[in-house]
Amino acid sequence: MSLLIQENIALKPYTTLKTGGVARYVLTVTNLAELEEAARFIAEKKLSYLVIGGGSNILVPDEGFAGVVILNQLKGVSYLEETEDEIILEAGAGEVFDEVVSETVQKGYWGLENLSAIPGTVGATPVQNVGAYGVEMSNVIVGVDVYDMKELSVKYFSVEECEFAYRESFFKTDKGKKYFITTVYIRLKKNSTPKIAYADLQKRFLGEEPTLVKVREAIISIRSEKFPDWNVIGTAGSFFKNPVIDEEHADTLKKQFPELPMYEAGMGMFKIPLGYVLDKVCRLKGIRYGNVGLYEQQALVLVNYGDASTEEIKKFAQTIIDVVFRKTKIIITPEVQYIETK
Ligand SMILES: Cc1cc2nc3c(=O)[nH]c(=O)nc-3n(C[C@H](O)[C@H](O)[C@H](O)COP(=O)(O)OP(=O)(O)OC[C@H]3O[C@@H](n4cnc5c(N)ncnc54)[C@H](O)[C@@H]3O)c2cc1C
Repeated sequence: MSLLIQENIALKPYTTLKTGGVARYVLTVTNLAELEEAARFIAEKKLSYLVIGGGSNILVPDEGFAGVVILNQLKGVSYLEETEDEIILEAGAGEVFDEVVSETVQKGYWGLENLSAIPGTVGATPVQNVGAYGVEMSNVIVGVDVYDMKELSVKYFSVEECEFAYRESFFKTDKGKKYFITTVYIRLKKNSTPKIAYADLQKRFLGEEPTLVKVREAIISIRSEKFPDWNVIGTAGSFFKNPVIDEEHADTLKKQFPELPMYEAGMGMFKIPLGYVLDKVCRLKGIRYGNVGLYEQQALVLVNYGDASTEEIKKFAQTIIDVVFRKTKIIITPEVQYIETK
């Protein structure tokens, strides 16, 4: 099989927000040889490129993408090393993340269960250090294999080299962008204590034993109440990051809004649950302009109710950013990656 090259392809169906224009080229890679071919193609044409996995965290311009989109179909799951307590999972970056999570839970391995029902591919999970319900990928990743798209060579990054932080990693930096993640290595435990400290989860397990399977089921159930079905309604999940503010700012807000929850984030900083701010402070939950709105069940979730354009989404998001700033002086930033047209 050789590299599949398509021209002038609409990107809307490849993103969960269901917006965006046409890509000049779309290349589908299923193995490393094809990825190398793709890198040579990009160098030859002198074009920029964009990797798309599940398209669940990107906002593609209405004008489209003038370069090369690489659709990641690098598959394969295996279990590498085994000790009495641990196992190392090796997952191809193009695997659907939740299918991998489901398999590990069925096999009785702990580690990924709290990250159940998150859309997208395995290879994108290190990029923004995917996290939910008290667990982040940085807690379980051992390392990743990458392909250097400029040097045409493979490299291994240990967890430290990935430079993980809240919704951040080395792969989001200018230096990190030339690396295509090809394989993710994940440490799983054969026995562990369930991580159910989040209030929503605790409530589910009052008087019930939180087994591995039940934790996954509970998370799927809670998330189905908070998020719309991304196969039906356009969304990228939480559109903005939870802001982290300094102590002085936190003190001021505590006086203004005594009920506002805040969590210590280290170094004298405080993380603010933005969903609360949008809902209770700014009263924006369920707000809708035309085809764009904040979801009725969870204000952090921006939805494309119909045929909204990327421009409409950007304008709506900017309005939200402005309202939050006026009310709280907090500067919020999108978690979703805005793609440039070139
Ligand atoms: C309903 C819903 C709920 C969500 N819930 C959560 C949540 O709880 N927690 C959370 O953290 N996120 C959540 N997300 C966001 C999203 O699912 C994750 O960020 C996911 O990891 C994105 O995967 P993807 O394959 O769709 O990435 P894409 O959107 O395709 O790509 C995202 C970015 O990663 C880059 N990228 C993708 N693959 C690779 C690769 N192999 N190598 C290098 N770069 C790559 C892309 O170029 C792009 O910049 C949610 C999204 C939705 C729609």
